[in-house]
Amino acid sequence: MSPSRRSVALLGATGSIGVQTLDVLRHESERFELTAISGGEQLSELAAIVREFNVKSVAVKSAEHRATLGELISREVSIVVGEEGLAQLSASADVVVNAVLGFAGLPVTLGALGAGKRLALANKESLVAAAPLVANVRHQPGAQLVPIDSEHCAIHQCLASSPALPGYPDVRRLLLTASGGPFRGWSAEQLRGATKADALRHPTWSMGDKITVDSSTLMNKGLEVLEATALFGIDAARVDVVVHPQSIVHSMVEYVDGSVLAQLSRPDMRLPIAYSLGLPQRLTHHWGDLDFTQTMELNFEPPDREAFPALGLAYEAARLGGAAPAWLSAANEVAVEAFLADAIAWCDIVALVAATMDHYVADPLDSLASLHENDEAARRWARASLEN
Ligand code: NDP
Ligand code: MG
Repeated sequence: MSPSRRSVALLGATGSIGVQTLDVLRHESERFELTAISGGEQLSELAAIVREFNVKSVAVKSAEHRATLGELISREVSIVVGEEGLAQLSASADVVVNAVLGFAGLPVTLGALGAGKRLALANKESLVAAAPLVANVRHQPGAQLVPIDSEHCAIHQCLASSPALPGYPDVRRLLLTASGGPFRGWSAEQLRGATKADALRHPTWSMGDKITVDSSTLMNKGLEVLEATALFGIDAARVDVVVHPQSIVHSMVEYVDGSVLAQLSRPDMRLPIAYSLGLPQRLTHHWGDLDFTQTMELNFEPPDREAFPALGLAYEAARLGGAAPAWLSAANEVAVEAFLADAIAWCDIVALVAATMDHYVADPLDSLASLHENDEAARRWARASLEN
């Protein structure tokens, strides 16, 4: 590798964020070298990435996956397995992109920061669930946490000129924008008839199925409120949600003097991905500009908290703190999986999360072992509710 090129580990390379990261890397091969990747079930795609980028190390889920991948790749590649494999590759590159789905991304978040790497974070579930543990490893020498989630990337950019004092005292509040999802404006009765096809039809973003469903319930925005508190050290009472159907303003920061800074761009995840890779440099983009010569409407409205109770549950989890956000996220993973498997209706997703949260017993979350215990307990309660 040329000494000026930065090595990149892309974990979750076969997913929506993974594929878009590969597209950025194709255009930036003089700056970055992809050295390590991981995937879940899509082993042929993983093998194709190894061949195209001449990747040196791959993490897979199991020994069976390793055997199958080994047959698909006819060259010398190190293949590591399971959580340990993911953690190992997360410590192996200058920049670690966490594009794994759900709680399974935890070893990447903790591994990259613990090893003093730049973590380019798409996987919000790990940060939401493990916020107190992430706070402990975030201060490792060299560790840097740069958000890929578009709202948090926008806030990161808007805060760049602000003195990074604990709690950002000159910030009145963060305003997270939300497209409102496919069910914006639907009545409670219409929502009762919402189908999987309806939920998977996002109006502005093309994403993996889980986050697309999360966007339809507004649980995605709820998780993002929790993500913002963990990332920026700002209490949830100073994080508001604003529905902005065009997805052009990606979020805003309101300062105590009444100034509001916003970041605008076309809705394309390659922008925040490129930002997280290139920081402090901006990478020249190739995905189209906003056209200010044409009339453009930017609308803002409050979210309908009655129709979308997920937001309230997330604020309540933020108020409880400790392991409550981990429970919320774990229960939601179980519920969304069940919905995608046609086992429950759309309306049951958030109802199941609420029923699970009723069993939460306060826990300050001071160790990895306790996080795993809480995650398992929440999943157990969620599955028990599924059977009732
Ligand atoms: P996808 O479902 O498209 O991709 C997920 C990736 O993780 C795939 O590579 C998948 O492998 C892998 N994976 C899934 N389960 C496991 C597991 N148990 N162990 C190891 N690897 C696993 O998801 P997205 O790309 O949409 O989202 C990824 C993360 O980024 C999520 O946390 C999401 O919230 C966040 N995010 C996504 C955005 C988007 O635009 N998509 C926007 C903002 C945040 P395989 O496919 O091979 O099975
Ligand atoms: Mg987002």
